[in-house]
Order: sequence, then structure tokens, then C-alpha cells
Amino acid sequence: MKDFNFEVITLFPQAFELINNLGVITRALEKNLINVNLHDLRDYGIGRYRQVDDKPYGGGSGMVLKPEPIYNAYKSIKKCIKSKTLLMTPQGKVLKQKDLLRWSDLDQIIIICGQYEGFDERVRCLADEEISLGDYVLSGGEVPAMAIINGLTRLLPGTLGDPDSLVDESHNSSLLEYPHFTRPFNFKGMQVPEVLVSGNHEEINLWRKQKSIERTLVRRNDLLSIENYKKYLKNKGKNKYSDELLEFIENNEYDIYPNW
Ligand code: SAH
Repeated sequence: MKDFNFEVITLFPQAFELINNLGVITRALEKNLINVNLHDLRDYGIGRYRQVDDKPYGGGSGMVLKPEPIYNAYKSIKKCIKSKTLLMTPQGKVLKQKDLLRWSDLDQIIIICGQYEGFDERVRCLADEEISLGDYVLSGGEVPAMAIINGLTRLLPGTLGDPDSLVDESHNSSLLEYPHFTRPFNFKGMQVPEVLVSGNHEEINLWRKQKSIERTLVRRNDLLSIENYKKYLKNKGKNKYSDELLEFIENNEYDIYPNW
């Protein structure tokens, strides 16, 4: 089995201690399915004080990461054949499940984490892709980097106990996943839907598919293409949760398994 190498360029390597205590990810580390190599930006700092940041040209608040330490840290990394470099920035493309799946074929991902006001603009040319964790600003790229390590690792063969659990889950099929229940059957008066204890697998699958669509419509109809959504609304009542809707879900940005 191949192992997957994450190389993280960061000013706060200690932030990544968390992954040593994180279930599936920790097991993947122990089984050598992944390596997480931390490259401390401070080691590449300039001068006696190992300076990594400086004031922005033109004035303004905050400090900016200097380009040389990031370049030198980057240069020190031994590149694998199938390697990509990701720059963490709120100005990047918002991370999607589809991206994680696309990268899971690589041997190596190099992640550059910014801090403070960000990094010198000239660092951008190192990156194959600029990635944002979402439309908000964090204080550093470490949390987004950990999100990528976490989300990608669980897609690697041998990582999850049951690989089937990847198939239905939210965002894999442009749909949110159906609701889950476990014991007890009755919790504070709230009962598990009867169909789930019926033993009828066809009915259970149908119920799950319906709930999945229903939930996506209510919570994230942006995941569905407008045209198909309109069509769904037109047919609502006639053929509730028809397979027609599923066809429409395809070909938007989120479809990973179009033939689901
Ligand atoms: N002034 C910058 C933001 C700096 S935040 C701007 O407006 O674009 C400091 C660092 O945190 C960034 O360089 C980036 O590496 C990281 N960061 C903050 N928010 C992020 C997000 N939503 N996604 C990915 N990285 C983020």
C-alpha cells in the first residue's frame, strides 16, 4: 500500500500535535498510511533572530510573512512525482469534497500556511492551487491544513474500518446524508422511524434516499441545480422525491458519483 505524504510549511508546527490524538487520522499515522512532515518556518528565518515576517510596503496594519523563508522551506522538501502544492488563503477556491477526492490519487501534498496579515504576494507562484476553508478569516492556515489532512486521509484505502461508509455520506453525491439513529429505540419520547427496524432493506434504502433529498432541499438547495430544483417543485405532490430530481443533481460542481 502506498503512503501519502503531507508536507506542511508552518510557523506553528505544535498546532499539529492534535492529529496525534484524532481517531482515524492517528491510526493512519500509526499504520504508516500517511506521513505528516512539519517544516518549521522559523528554521528558515533570516538573520540572528530568524526573522520570518516584516512590515508591509506602503504601510498599513499587521505583519506579512517574508517570501525567502517560505521559498527556502519549500526548496528543502523532497518532491514526489505526483505532488501538488496548496496555499492556504481566504482568497482561494473554497474546499469541496470533490477536491479531496481528486487529490487522494497523489503521493504528496505540500501545504503552505500563512499567518498574521498573510504572505508576500510573490509566494503565490509556488502554489498549484489556492484553497480557502470557507468564507471567513482565520488567524492562520493551520486549521485549514488540518482540515485537508483529515478529510483526505479518511478517503485513503485502508484508513476507514468500513470503506462503504464513504459512499452515501454528505457531499459525495451532491446530497446531504440521510439521518442516522442508534439505540435506544425510544429516547426521551423520540422514537426511531419504524421503517428502520422493519428489516425490509428495499424500503430502508428508499426511505434513506428520500430523506437525503428532502434534507438537501431544506438545508442546502444550493447543492441542486436551479433547473432541476424548479422541476422538482413543479412535480412536487405528483411524484414526491422522484428519481428525476436525482438526474438534475448531476453536473453541478458537487457531483462526484454522477451515477449514484
Ligand atoms: N489579510 C489576509 C488574511 C490573512 S489571515 C486577506 O485578507 O486575504 C492569515 C492567514 O490565515 C492567511 O494567510 C491564510 O494562510 C490563513 N487563512 C485565514 N483564513 C483562511 C481561510 N478561510 N482559508 C484558508 N486559509 C485561511
